[in-house]
Amino acid sequence: MNLKKLPKKLVLQGGTILDPLSGRSTKGNVVIEHNKIKSVGSAGGAKGETMIDCSGLVITHGFCDVHVHFREPGREDKETLQTGSRAALAGGFTRVCIMPNTSPPLDSPESIRFVVEKAEECPVHIHPIGAVTKGQKGKELTEVQAIISEGAVALSDDGLPISDAQVMRLALEYTSMFDKPVINHAEDECLRNNGLMHEGEISTRLGLAGNPSLAEAIMIQRDLELANMIQTKLHVPHVTSASGAANIRRMKKLNSNITAEVTPHHLFFNDQALLEYNTNFKVAPPIRAENDRKELIKAVKDGTFDCIATDHAPHTIEEKEATFELAPFGMIGLESCFGAVNKVLDMPLKELLKLLTVNPRRVMGFEEDLFTIGCAAELTIIDPDQEWIFKEQNIYSKSRNTPFIGEKLKGKVRFTISKGSIADLK
Ligand SMILES: [Zn+2]
Repeated sequence: MNLKKLPKKLVLQGGTILDPLSGRSTKGNVVIEHNKIKSVGSAGGAKGETMIDCSGLVITHGFCDVHVHFREPGREDKETLQTGSRAALAGGFTRVCIMPNTSPPLDSPESIRFVVEKAEECPVHIHPIGAVTKGQKGKELTEVQAIISEGAVALSDDGLPISDAQVMRLALEYTSMFDKPVINHAEDECLRNNGLMHEGEISTRLGLAGNPSLAEAIMIQRDLELANMIQTKLHVPHVTSASGAANIRRMKKLNSNITAEVTPHHLFFNDQALLEYNTNFKVAPPIRAENDRKELIKAVKDGTFDCIATDHAPHTIEEKEATFELAPFGMIGLESCFGAVNKVLDMPLKELLKLLTVNPRRVMGFEEDLFTIGCAAELTIIDPDQEWIFKEQNIYSKSRNTPFIGEKLKGKVRFTISKGSIADLK
């Protein structure tokens, strides 16, 4: 990646400008001056100006991921805000929301301030999500109001489910006053029963402890009922099961504040991928059966899921080289996201881009119109048709734990423009 400061004036010349907010697509130039959008759709470009030839490419909003783990503070050997930012740029993301399961967790106003201040120097916009409970122990609510006023955009104990329904109820009631979503890692810990992978034919064959779809569906339904009673914002992360998706589809009709996400890996792989005990497929919640995968794709297409989120979860090689029982859950996902979902979803580009831009921004209450004249340039330039093999050299994360290495993907990010810099991914 070649990452440099934007010149005083930059002309993105002759691209297809696809605005995911209006759905309109036009041919022309986008001009950026002093890091701001100067014009959209104009022709020409004068001699002597810095230009990027965008013919054959699509210029669109910068991507937004509402669910990543950057491991700082505490596990800077896996990822830092800086290295995570580079992984984001490589994936076309200009804005990410980081989960609070760091060490210590982001459960105090001071820890949120620490991230907000450190994020200022990073080349992408990084928003902290504050913990719901102190120490992410699932018992006592954090100082919600202070955490939000320091810059937390949502609340979550992600990594750990909020098992106590009364704690979840209080969290939803309290955050409803601030119009912020609560995001609960939806797994019933008792039913999950230390499962290592999806409970089914393959787990039986491999002799690995199974985690049933019901562990997810039942927890999602509990959360949906609570959010419906309070009529407040609930965002359901990384849905994996047909039954979980069906619950969301049904309950969305009763509460328009419900939103949900799905990851590229749950759309791309099924549990047969685990047959060789590759620990890079060990994620929580697990990769499920082919029928679930197909239902997740349907749920994307019918609007049950609002957005794609990567759940980018870096781990060291040493940790992932442990046995399947001992290896930690999670895979990185920012760099491979677009090529994976563009391939597997095979849907109109303008619809797909909504799931990576306008919709996740709406979930978090961020500005949705990035082509407004005068707005700070936050753009991604893609070649939607390029087929390529995802390789280790495409990874900018500090970690390498991804099963996408060697996979053929479709659609490649070429440039990402964010916070006054441009990343060239050629
Ligand atoms: Zn989670």
